[in-house]
Amino acid sequence: MSSTAVEAARAEIAASCRSLAARGLVVGTAGNVSLRVGARQVAITATGARFEELTPEQVSVVDLEGRIVHGDLAPTSELALHLGIYRRYDPGAVVHTHAPLSTAVGLVVDEVPCVHYQMLLLGGSVRVAPYATFGTPELAEAVLAALDGRAAALMANHGAVTHAATLPGAVEQTELLEWACELYWRAAAIGTPKALDTDAQLAVINAATQRGYGTTRSPDTTRSADTTRSAHPTAAHPTAAEERPPR
Ligand SMILES: [Zn+2]
Repeated sequence: MSSTAVEAARAEIAASCRSLAARGLVVGTAGNVSLRVGARQVAITATGARFEELTPEQVSVVDLEGRIVHGDLAPTSELALHLGIYRRYDPGAVVHTHAPLSTAVGLVVDEVPCVHYQMLLLGGSVRVAPYATFGTPELAEAVLAALDGRAAALMANHGAVTHAATLPGAVEQTELLEWACELYWRAAAIGTPKALDTDAQLAVINAATQRGYGTTRSPDTTRSADTTRSAHPTAAHPTAAEERPPR
């Protein structure tokens, strides 16, 4: 991998971290971000890096086995989670945060139902991975399972994770997830939120496809054509930004 590509990835991660902090999605060191660099390497934030002032030097580059190939700092303690997501779902970028509303909702439900059509960009309903200690293989495995067919998952008593084809896409998925969790929380405070049923979800997907908005994910209960592919954005899938329907 060229040093130019590595430095570009480190700079892109640093800028995204500062942006996540500025938007209140990460406070202090409470998150980690990674970005694929070529086929076999991943740039990832170092352990203990503060997001609001994160610099490219605080981004290390590892191979898919977790060995450092560029940088001086140890990668985040959630390295195994990030690498597991790359190995199983092959995204371009992964964002993990302790965003306040996503974390709060994950304290009280096992799954956030698909209460708004924009949640189809995340794969529909969002599962909550059972709690396990940070940095453990048990946590990584629980989150990987919760991400099946999804671009986002909540982590009980911990936070949230999203992935996308690009880093801006993954950041946008994190924002969308936080928005959906706030929506669900506000609705649940005054009544029982109504979820979109499978027919309604499919109609949205068909409408988005007809209008050329791309591959809004199919609900995995339907097994329509789109779900036969991995239901996450890849180079062949538009990013969330590209496929987002109008509000
Ligand atoms: Zn965490």
